[in-house]
Amino acid sequence: MANISETERVQLHVPGLEELRNVLQAGLEKNFAEVQVSVTECPDLTKDPFQFPVKGLCGKPRITDVGGVPYLVPLVQRDKEYNMNTISKEVELPGAFILGAAAAPNRIIGMNAEMMPLVRTEAEGRPAVNSSYVSSINPADGQCLQERYSDEDCNFALLGNLFACEGKPGKVIEVQAKKRTGDNSLVTALRKTLEGHYPDKTLALGGTFIIQKGKAKIHIMPREFSVCPLNSDDEVNKWLKHFEVSAPFICQSVLVSRDPGLDLRVEHSHGFSHHGEGGHYYIDTTPDSVEYLGYFMPAEFVYRIDRPKQTHKVGRE
Ligand code: ZN
Repeated sequence: MANISETERVQLHVPGLEELRNVLQAGLEKNFAEVQVSVTECPDLTKDPFQFPVKGLCGKPRITDVGGVPYLVPLVQRDKEYNMNTISKEVELPGAFILGAAAAPNRIIGMNAEMMPLVRTEAEGRPAVNSSYVSSINPADGQCLQERYSDEDCNFALLGNLFACEGKPGKVIEVQAKKRTGDNSLVTALRKTLEGHYPDKTLALGGTFIIQKGKAKIHIMPREFSVCPLNSDDEVNKWLKHFEVSAPFICQSVLVSRDPGLDLRVEHSHGFSHHGEGGHYYIDTTPDSVEYLGYFMPAEFVYRIDRPKQTHKVGRE
């Protein structure tokens, strides 16, 4: 476990869900032909296709940015390992449900890989429930290998962009979007809409969305860390392995409209599937046929944990 020296906390702007609905509806219409944003009861997330360890996204929603890409490139810092149970305490919500995008704990699984965290952290009298996935490069064929990661330790490494809440049912923002007409991914469109409408405030959303139809571009990190320093986006992209994955693909996403000076990664989404594909989501590759269905909650706080002292902007796509 990396020594967490200091956790910074910033309060976020949280508009009412109806106001947010109106803002997101208008913004997404600039990027998709068909858009329906509504305020609705969160579906039961223990059911298909989610199979999360909790029912909903509600109850004290917050996000955290843990570590960062500077611990991965130019060269890996192998001592950077974190634990979801500790993270839940750092974000002042022990027992929280946590989802998002992270790097797998290379020390424990013996390789580098993408992680799709889905963890109900431990609480007094109750052990953690780890429903996470890990996606790596299969050495046999160079293709994607997605596996369940149910280890009770609930560790991850290097970096994580996470949404935490009590996992309760309740009202959420539902986003339906079909046929992409703009250049932005669903996540970038949501983020830029918030940034444009609230230029002097910081808002964050966390949640889950399904690519119901179409295909998407993803990457998976190689099993071995780069031995040569990766000093540019170009060098990082050559090191990463890129794939096209098929629907249905279930992404967990964290986005921040604007960095309030915490050196944040402003959006990060990882996805899994029930057909063996998983990894880091960029954008759909089938704009004419793509269909999205998502559920999001605005976060009340952002926590910056183990912020890199030496930082850079490489590799944050
Ligand atoms: Zn990622």
